Amino acid sequence: MAVLIGANSRTYKFALGSALLDAAAEGRSEILLRDLAVPYAMELVRHLGQAPQVSQKGELGEKDFLSVAEREAAESLRLGSPTEELLAAAIDSMPRMVMQKFHNLRGEGAEVPHRFYEVTGRSHERVVRLSKELRDIAGSEQAATLRGELSARWSIVETSFAIGIGQSLIREGVVVDLTTLQITDRQRRRSVAGVTDAVIGFQRGLCLICAESITPNDDIAVDHVFPYSFMRLLRSGDQDTPLDLDAVWNLAPTHARCNGQKSNRPPTREEMTRLAQRNEAIMQSPVPLKKTLELTLKHNKHSSTRPGEWHRFIQHVHDLL
Ligand SMILES: [Zn+2]
Repeated sequence: MAVLIGANSRTYKFALGSALLDAAAEGRSEILLRDLAVPYAMELVRHLGQAPQVSQKGELGEKDFLSVAEREAAESLRLGSPTEELLAAAIDSMPRMVMQKFHNLRGEGAEVPHRFYEVTGRSHERVVRLSKELRDIAGSEQAATLRGELSARWSIVETSFAIGIGQSLIREGVVVDLTTLQITDRQRRRSVAGVTDAVIGFQRGLCLICAESITPNDDIAVDHVFPYSFMRLLRSGDQDTPLDLDAVWNLAPTHARCNGQKSNRPPTREEMTRLAQRNEAIMQSPVPLKKTLELTLKHNKHSSTRPGEWHRFIQHVHDLL
């Protein structure tokens, strides 16, 4: 949730999340800030080569960490580790910026219920204590899934920062390419992230059909919660536009075996509730997944701002059958 929820004007949270997971996966309970800063800075310079890491509003100051990262990126990548200037900038900015905000959720004062770390020590030799909660997560069987979610989220956010594609994502949301199971932007149909990685966190890593955990060893399928074969039965709104069942709102990761057994039946009440809860959770995340769901509600004459609307909308779809 720390990674999925909250407004992003930069991508520091993802680089920190990645560095923290690595450090904790080694079973360490503490790490020097300067050691944590190495993978943090390197992840950022690698991503800088692919897409902007800050939304396009305003100019960056010369001392801004991203300005330093841009200047030092080529040399750091050549060395395989951050240059001294980049490392110094990371050590200086991390505790003042991203490490203060990492636990924040959306809304005033909202935070995740756990601390994942604590920064102690003096300015030049700061130590980051990694909490038991962080070590538990990093060592759990869900760790691989979290990694996938983190990189999907990062990709969605940095793509939305890109000129051209970003504007289309923010205005029009995303579409799903069902052949590759990738989320793409509407205009160029360029792949942004995998459907499963992009949404599984919002259903808390659980299969939408059986509500048990999906582990990295499970075969995963992306289920049409309302089966695709229902498409021709459904007409919504006044214009007789068919309701799109191939869209994010109706697609959910499941165990492949659960999906296979489900076949073409309509969703159960429990599945409908889980889908509505998952979609309500996505509505708490920043654009563009949220935008995509808002547009689905709007196009079908439902309110995109009223809380709980997904429960009403899904019941409405069910009643159309
Ligand atoms: Zn299942």
